Amino acid sequence: MKTYQVDKQGYYGEFGGAYVPEILHQCVETLQNTYAAVLESETFRRDFDVLLRDYVGRPSPLYLSRRLSEKYGCKIYLKREDLNHTGAHKINNTIGQILLARHMGKKRIIAETGAGQHGVATATVCALMNMECIVYMGKTDVERQHANVQKMEMLGAKVVPVTSGNMTLKDATNEAIRDWCCHPADTYYIIGSTVGPHPYPDMVARLQSVISEEIKKQLLEQEGRDYPDYLIACVGGGSNAAGTIYHYLDDERVKIVLAEAGGHGIASGESAATIQLGKKGIIHGSRTLVMQNEDGQIEEPYSISAGLDYPGIGPIHANLSATRRATILAVDDEEALDAAFELTRLEGIIPALESAHALGALDKVTFKPEDVVVLTVSGRGDKDMETYIAHKNKTK
Ligand SMILES: *Cc1c(COP(=O)(O)O)cnc(C)c1O
Repeated sequence: MKTYQVDKQGYYGEFGGAYVPEILHQCVETLQNTYAAVLESETFRRDFDVLLRDYVGRPSPLYLSRRLSEKYGCKIYLKREDLNHTGAHKINNTIGQILLARHMGKKRIIAETGAGQHGVATATVCALMNMECIVYMGKTDVERQHANVQKMEMLGAKVVPVTSGNMTLKDATNEAIRDWCCHPADTYYIIGSTVGPHPYPDMVARLQSVISEEIKKQLLEQEGRDYPDYLIACVGGGSNAAGTIYHYLDDERVKIVLAEAGGHGIASGESAATIQLGKKGIIHGSRTLVMQNEDGQIEEPYSISAGLDYPGIGPIHANLSATRRATILAVDDEEALDAAFELTRLEGIIPALESAHALGALDKVTFKPEDVVVLTVSGRGDKDMETYIAHKNKTK
């Protein structure tokens, strides 16, 4: 049977794999040989499920948005990941990986972060599990995202500002990999999205797949059938989208729409629409689509949303695009901002700027009145209030 899931070698079609320095081969191989059995074991499932329920607050509601449905002429459900502890979907993944780290006897946790959201989610579970936590963050981002740095420090993490390159996410990632190379025996590297060398993309997708597992049950209860006509999610590295579509990947009745960040427009030179603008290359240990110049140098992406401006994309999503299983739409800054205000005024829900890109895709799809649409609200907008207020003042 044709499948869009990972194969035994860690590839999705021609994307994926594990391209890591020699010194990490052993580490990555151990992880490859360990993760699936642990994730499927009864003790892991039990610990994971209890924490998702009692600590994160799952299941997250599937909310029928009546006014949004009316506006777009179909039935729109919102999957409310914004209601999770720490305000987004990222905690699902960090809880799973820290349980795996503990199982593997690791004592020291490292992570990289751009906007700081993954850093906070990692520092949170390290506090919970009483583990040492070191977060690499570009110096530029440390200055831009001060509130998240303060949260990580309050949670007991050590935030290391990275001063190489542009001092942003890609440089922080390089530094985290360097650290892992130096401490392969006692250190576990928590990656925050469906990126990185195999097995990370598959592992993160599986940990986030609780989202589509719940959607199935909730739709069956509310609609009498366990699948929607459309699934819509935003993509940075691709983890909330992977979780949303995981159990529907091979069910072609379900159309998949992925919203990437158009920035100032995909032709503007200031964009983070990696799937549409990227070329095949290797980033972060994975063969995927990469924003790069003619010499293969990684290009700095741009988006108003800090969580979406990553120059790569998960290999799952690169393959979904190449095989046309998914429709990829670019949603520009302005469209996302308008969509955030629209949801806020229609439903009283202030979404994260990242999630606003998924909402901005609604306007670009032609729905039939009987269509059932599930859109994942990946996070809440508290962290984006300054941007929203600036936009409001500008458009007044
Ligand atoms: C980090 C983040 C994203 C983007 O990451 P994915 O791995 O693509 O899901 C989206 N939404 C929110 C709220 C985030 O914090």
